[in-house]
Amino acid sequence: MHLIAIGGSDAGISAALRARELDPAAEVSVVVADAYPNFSICGIPYYVSGEVPHWRNLAHRSIADLEATGMSLRLDTTARRIDVAARKLMVTSADGTEELLGYDKLIVGTGAVPVRPPISGLAGPGALGPDDGVHLLHSMGDTFAVMRTLTQAAPASAVIVGAGYIGLEMADALTVRGLQVTQMEQLPEVLPTVDPDLGAQVHAELATRGVEVLTGTTVRQISRNPAGQTGRLRVEATAADGTAVTRQADMVLVVVGVRPEVSLAVSAGATLGARGAITVDRMMRTGLPEVYAAGDCVITHHRLLGETYLPLGTTAHKQGRVAGENALGGNREFAGSLGTQVVKIFDQAAARTGLRDHEAIAAGFEPVTVAAEADDHKAYYPGSHRIHMRFTGDRATGRLLGVQLFGHRHAEIAKRIDIAATAIFHNMTVDAVSDLDLSYTPPLGSPWDAVQIGAQAWVRHARQL
Ligand SMILES: Cc1cc2nc3c(=O)[nH]c(=O)nc-3n(C[C@H](O)[C@H](O)[C@H](O)COP(=O)(O)OP(=O)(O)OC[C@H]3O[C@@H](n4cnc5c(N)ncnc54)[C@H](O)[C@@H]3O)c2cc1C
Repeated sequence: MHLIAIGGSDAGISAALRARELDPAAEVSVVVADAYPNFSICGIPYYVSGEVPHWRNLAHRSIADLEATGMSLRLDTTARRIDVAARKLMVTSADGTEELLGYDKLIVGTGAVPVRPPISGLAGPGALGPDDGVHLLHSMGDTFAVMRTLTQAAPASAVIVGAGYIGLEMADALTVRGLQVTQMEQLPEVLPTVDPDLGAQVHAELATRGVEVLTGTTVRQISRNPAGQTGRLRVEATAADGTAVTRQADMVLVVVGVRPEVSLAVSAGATLGARGAITVDRMMRTGLPEVYAAGDCVITHHRLLGETYLPLGTTAHKQGRVAGENALGGNREFAGSLGTQVVKIFDQAAARTGLRDHEAIAAGFEPVTVAAEADDHKAYYPGSHRIHMRFTGDRATGRLLGVQLFGHRHAEIAKRIDIAATAIFHNMTVDAVSDLDLSYTPPLGSPWDAVQIGAQAWVRHARQL
């Protein structure tokens, strides 16, 4: 039995680990395009900021740890073609040598690549790139390029295009490094994955920390500045009212999302679903004989929405594990995502799980969203913080559909969003959240936890409708 996983990140490595765990006799190979298997790319912003001192610290496991599990790593090796009928994978090594690898089961974990938006100067002949201080950010290679710019060109200023969670983490990181950061976002508010009320609080935190935030601003062009100007790059954008906005900066980071990397699977005959990701069933089967796929390259089964695309590291780990188990003859299903996520922005954190109003409506619910506030622990004990909450429930059934939170990074925002995620996962009503037996001691909580206060506010409001 020879299992090959393509991709050395969360999905591919999780699959390989699970397979070796279940069957120590299975031959498991992982084909990785670069030399950095099992790196926590989620930690890149904290290496860039200097909080994580060395890039090697980002490895979930070292190469030696991985090999000790019995898997064999083929680094700097790119999968080029899958011959489904012959069960062969054609790979090339760094020097271009081709090789055909036979497999019994194949798991595609090729992940995602950063979106390159239609900004003049980013593509085509003479396109600007890392040597000019213009960066995309996804892989360890991208990270090394960013670090080269930071250490060799010593930029004083940066423009970040995009204010999703990676853009926000990088605004935090570059500010911590001492750069003057301007963040440009074409949507009306930052962190568009939460409601604008909470996005506005993230926006305020950025502004307090000295980040210039330009929302409703669409970047049109990035170009080299003539010598003698303040920054070596010029970023031209259009504000929502049509006025021109120009900023000069030494460095530009474009982080506007990812798209699934599916070329290998498509050429083998895989079909595509949401956002052009590989269609898989909940057992992570692609429909091609003996070929599974997992992670950012596949569609995501959402517990409330059905098929969607939600590229997240937590999901990639779970899907990879399911694929690895099933490739060995298992019968496990990916239980589904709720899009649970949390992001730290300087000293604040924002989190969400489940659905917001517009998503709930699209899924056939009748959502009601209620805002509430509570302290993270008893206010008489020093250091308490307010938590801002938004609870979404279904008017007809009282079912909890979604929760969004914003508050201090030490206010256990992540723990509290996970309580909500657990409640939604188990189809609880909002009212039932009040019945949960949650922990309490004044320095750490309240007799009614903040999430229960939020749930009670929702129930009070819903009763009056
Ligand atoms: C800066 C940053 C911060 C993030 N923060 C978070 C976070 O806080 N929480 C969270 O849940 N998620 C986070 N994510 C997202 C998370 O990292 C991804 O969802 C996750 O890495 C996806 O894993 P994957 O294995 O599917 O794909 P990827 O990580 O994209 O890896 C794909 C792998 O496949 C390899 N590959 C691709 N094509 C080939 C080929 N043809 N042959 C051989 N190898 C190939 C690549 O080299 C790579 O090893 C973050 C991402 C970034 C970039």
